[in-house]
Amino acid sequence: MGSTDSGFQLTRLDGLTCLQSTLLNRCELIDHAFSTRLGGLSGGFLSSLNTAFHTGDKIEHVLENRRLLLNHWGYRPEEIVAGSQVHGVTVFPVAAQDRGRGAEPGTFLAEADALVTAEPGIVLTAYAADCLLLYIAEPHIPVIALAHAGWRGTLSAMAVLVVDFMQARYGVDPSHLLAAISPGICPGCYRVNEETAGRFKLAGWGGEPYLEEDGQGSYRLDLPRINAAQLINAGIAAHNLAQTGFCTSCRPDLFYSYRRERGLTGRMMGFLAIKPEKEMIA
Ligand SMILES: [Zn+2]
Repeated sequence: MGSTDSGFQLTRLDGLTCLQSTLLNRCELIDHAFSTRLGGLSGGFLSSLNTAFHTGDKIEHVLENRRLLLNHWGYRPEEIVAGSQVHGVTVFPVAAQDRGRGAEPGTFLAEADALVTAEPGIVLTAYAADCLLLYIAEPHIPVIALAHAGWRGTLSAMAVLVVDFMQARYGVDPSHLLAAISPGICPGCYRVNEETAGRFKLAGWGGEPYLEEDGQGSYRLDLPRINAAQLINAGIAAHNLAQTGFCTSCRPDLFYSYRRERGLTGRMMGFLAIKPEKEMIA
């Protein structure tokens, strides 16, 4: 499901190595990217472009790494917004006065895992190392959403909650939405226990290709594929959905992986923004 040529691709921009979706790149009014671990200041197990504060990194490294990423698009780390990502189901509408919330430790916008805005120049951000980030955009209104979905968010159908929210609040037609799923952990790398598998079975994701017993008492769980199915179930057209082929755990050269590194690792940052309105030129 999803064609690789519209999924996230590695891109080199001004010496920066990040990923972009060719599908979202076709939207003239929208900027977006997903960072890699390459090209930052952090050392040791955080080497080198760690973008999150709660990893044990120096604050000044996180801020500079975010600056290195955002600089290409002309955004500043001081103006981003971020939720505190509690593996919950809260979708938070972001307004102009929220700019800068989450730019420093302890200033997070809310206990939200999904942020939505129709405000130009607001840089929605989210952080992950194996969890998925869902980029969703209505390119004409425009209105955008960036959501974080690990296994709990996926079990709660975060993708559907976000699309429903965009529909209720902004009147979007789901068939007009574009969506892209960030790199995340693949089913070959992601085994879950009987209890977690049981919850997915109850939610209707018990069969292949979503959940597969590995013969060793655990299960391979395909989070990217379940999220893709949820986005389609929410009304997004298959040709408007882009998936990555990248697994964060399979590629230590490019990505941090919480599972692979047993929690001691950095975070990649995803951002999504409606371009600021151009100032009038006299
Ligand atoms: Zn993998």
